[in-house]
Amino acid sequence: MLRDRLRGELVEPSDPRFPQATQLQNTEYDAVRPHAVAYCASARDVVACVRHAREQGLRVHVRGNGHSMNGWSTGEGLVIDLSRMNHAVADGPLVRLGGGVQSLDALDALKTQHRQIVTGTFPTVSAGGFLTGGGLGWQTRGFGVGSDRIAAAQVVLADGRTVRCSSVEEPDLYWALRGGGGGSFGIVTEFEVRPIDAPTLTGFETLWAYEDAVDVLTAWQEWAVAGPEELGTSLVVLPGMFGPGGRPVVRVWGVHLGPAPRLALELDALAERAGAKPISRTVHPTGPYADVMHEALCGSQTVAQCHRTGSGPEARGHRHPYTRQSYRLTGRAATRAESAALLDAWDASLEEERSERYLLAIALGGAANRTARTETAYAHRDAQFLIGYQMACRDIAADPGAPARLTAWADRAGAALAPLACGSYINFPSSRVSEGWETDYFGENHARLLKVKQVYDPENVFRHAQSVGSGVRTTKAVS
Ligand SMILES: Cc1cc2nc3c(=O)[nH]c(=O)nc-3n(C[C@H](O)[C@H](O)[C@H](O)COP(=O)(O)OP(=O)(O)OC[C@H]3O[C@@H](n4cnc5c(N)ncnc54)[C@H](O)[C@@H]3O)c2cc1C
Repeated sequence: MLRDRLRGELVEPSDPRFPQATQLQNTEYDAVRPHAVAYCASARDVVACVRHAREQGLRVHVRGNGHSMNGWSTGEGLVIDLSRMNHAVADGPLVRLGGGVQSLDALDALKTQHRQIVTGTFPTVSAGGFLTGGGLGWQTRGFGVGSDRIAAAQVVLADGRTVRCSSVEEPDLYWALRGGGGGSFGIVTEFEVRPIDAPTLTGFETLWAYEDAVDVLTAWQEWAVAGPEELGTSLVVLPGMFGPGGRPVVRVWGVHLGPAPRLALELDALAERAGAKPISRTVHPTGPYADVMHEALCGSQTVAQCHRTGSGPEARGHRHPYTRQSYRLTGRAATRAESAALLDAWDASLEEERSERYLLAIALGGAANRTARTETAYAHRDAQFLIGYQMACRDIAADPGAPARLTAWADRAGAALAPLACGSYINFPSSRVSEGWETDYFGENHARLLKVKQVYDPENVFRHAQSVGSGVRTTKAVS
């Protein structure tokens, strides 16, 4: 029995903990009923799961911490969960990260070890999906995409073997795991990553009136492209339900790696470019990297509280409701007319319906774009921004028209983005699966990824709707 072969735990449908064990970040996938969920405690557990699934003819679903927007880490087979393989330890010049370690835990554990690593801007995303897909965030401009810093990885393969890959061991697998996406080649049980040199950081936040949105969106993009690589920044257009005085608002926030006075000058420069004054501007005190990132990702919550609700007794971290999204990578700052079109697609008129929707952008470029497109599987070395839209419905049962409405909105938004796009990021997949998605995600690297897949997983054991070699062209846009 699989249960007897595990140091971790197997949670089966008869177990009262099963409903919670099946959850991903998005509540939409609560309806999926896997065969069982295996909480692995070691690489040997992962091997046992892969072998068991193959013996029993079960599909495997690899799960780090379940943030796949399109539900790629669950299904009706065996969920192989890595969330308990969550160590983060300094080891000489490198850091060892468990395949399921969440950003907030890694930051916290490494703080006392005086190490900093690249993470994204959401606390509970795990290294397993984040690093294999690329890994973008506020450190991208200064230190490159997360996967650029992988020195080696321990991987359980489809045939049950465990291998270490690096530039000299299994180099093709090593290449593919740096941007080829999770759940395609094997199960990474541990990453060895190069830490970054960022002992301190300064966080900032500015809010802008929606009336200035076109100017702010245009200026923010120009500012980010021209600005120093020490600047990590995002922009979001929030609906009135989250804006001061019930009005929509533009939030520009992020972190700065340099001295606080330089950040103040940069923020002045943004206002000057926009020709507008922010409603508010907050620059937090410069502090230790882990503390500033924790504050930005978790606010005043403790580490235990910041985890996803249901995952522990103190956990309060929110889950995401039913969502439809369109995301693309863009290669330059949009013109004013293009920014206006992007905001038209967000559609201020939907405020009347209290519609929950966002236009979100993260500034990229910098160090990420000094690596050649084919050096790792992450090809997007010309991208300057990740930009996208998402619309949510908090009570899908009470709103039967929501799936079609959200899908239509996301499709319109995706069409507005298309003229600017230079590719798509596999970790921010659009709900609509388009023709040519392989090229969009991987560019000229797709052909080599297919070859690596053929060598390491010829029977396509590791697969999901957009894994390498799946060739699926369906849409999950309306469900
Ligand atoms: C709210 C939110 C905010 C986000 N913010 C950012 C951000 O700032 N920057 C960014 O780059 N991305 C961000 N993402 C996207 C995130 O990086 C991806 O969703 C990522 O794949 C999630 O990893 P996970 O392990 O938590 O998710 P999962 O759903 O568990 O896994 C995602 C994919 O990776 C595979 N996988 C997971 N673990 C492993 C492993 N150990 N070995 C092999 N394959 C594995 C899964 O099979 C699945 O295909 C965000 C996502 C959400 C929902």
